[in-house]
Amino acid sequence: MRKCVFLDRDGVINIDDVNYTYKVEQFVLVKGVKEALQLLHDNGYLLVLITNQSGIAKGIYGHEDVTKCHAYMHEITGHLIDDIFYSPYHQTFTNSLGRKPGSLLFEKAIAKHDIDISKSYMVGDRGRDLVPARKIGLTTVHIHEEGHPSEPADFIAKDLLDAAKWIIEQ
Ligand SMILES: [Mg+2]
Repeated sequence: MRKCVFLDRDGVINIDDVNYTYKVEQFVLVKGVKEALQLLHDNGYLLVLITNQSGIAKGIYGHEDVTKCHAYMHEITGHLIDDIFYSPYHQTFTNSLGRKPGSLLFEKAIAKHDIDISKSYMVGDRGRDLVPARKIGLTTVHIHEEGHPSEPADFIAKDLLDAAKWIIEQ
């Protein structure tokens, strides 16, 4: 079985854009992300991205935009992210269990990669990242600059690098 760090994308890997991030030009890495991914990878963690992309359901962008952004993300992060699951749904149109805070995409990843939940983590910047993670039994890390999160977490980090350093010390 593998140990894994699940990662949210917007606000964790790239700077969150209020108008959705779906163009390569908008995709700007948060400082220290490449180093953080390398640290986790070197410590034996599988890296799985789980991201809500409701802009697809809303007709703002398409699957091909997400594919292009993710190809670019892989390129600029050194191909360290092992797998990506994204939800194209939004509750206005479809009540999908795959959209966070639903846990379906986590469960798919756990089955696909034979992940050991007891040794695995979720790093996210929203309550909806932490709710499904806690339900499944993952250790949760909340990225929150001011340190006043709305959702309980096992650790509050200021960014992914801070989270990665804490994870490898556990
Ligand atoms: Mg986010």
